[in-house]
Amino acid sequence: MDLANTLKPVKGEDALATVAQLRDFLAGHRGPGTAGPGSTAGAPCPAPRSRLDSTDLAEVRAVRETVRAVLEGAASDPAGTAALINDGLRRSRATLVLRNEHDRWWTEAVSDTDRCAAHLATATLSALASVIAARGPSRLGVCAGQACRGTFVDLSRNGSKQFCTSTCAHRASVAAYRSRSRHRERRAPESG
Ligand SMILES: [Zn+2]
Repeated sequence: MDLANTLKPVKGEDALATVAQLRDFLAGHRGPGTAGPGSTAGAPCPAPRSRLDSTDLAEVRAVRETVRAVLEGAASDPAGTAALINDGLRRSRATLVLRNEHDRWWTEAVSDTDRCAAHLATATLSALASVIAARGPSRLGVCAGQACRGTFVDLSRNGSKQFCTSTCAHRASVAAYRSRSRHRERRAPESG
């Protein structure tokens, strides 16, 4: 979600436009099994951040396109979305591994390459696939807020999420209230 939302299509803002921004993004999103500070070992990125270059940036931006397409299309076109996810996982050479730590067991998809973008694609697409498998494709969506194309994953109990953030939800409820008030004001002279 964070990867998808580095792009704000309506405002035309892009927080993933430079290699420095890519480094910052990855610094804030280190995956499980990661070594100490400054390292990007483990998901989502195997290479040291200092070695990332414009090719990595272009590849990660392409992954973001796929992730956005998945989040935007899952509810309306689940079959097409599944094909996108499967194709993305295949191209990033995702494989499943079984992990164990302190009596806890879990499975994790990892990429069999040294490309940063492939690790990011594996981590994000496998996570979205898990949400769809567990809760259905309609749990992925685009914010209903005006002038916002932010995306969200709805993990709420009843699956009623419509907005990317509480800010957008609040803005929409204020706008709806104002619109109702205006409507009442216009009607008042005629009816009374
Ligand atoms: Zn929003």
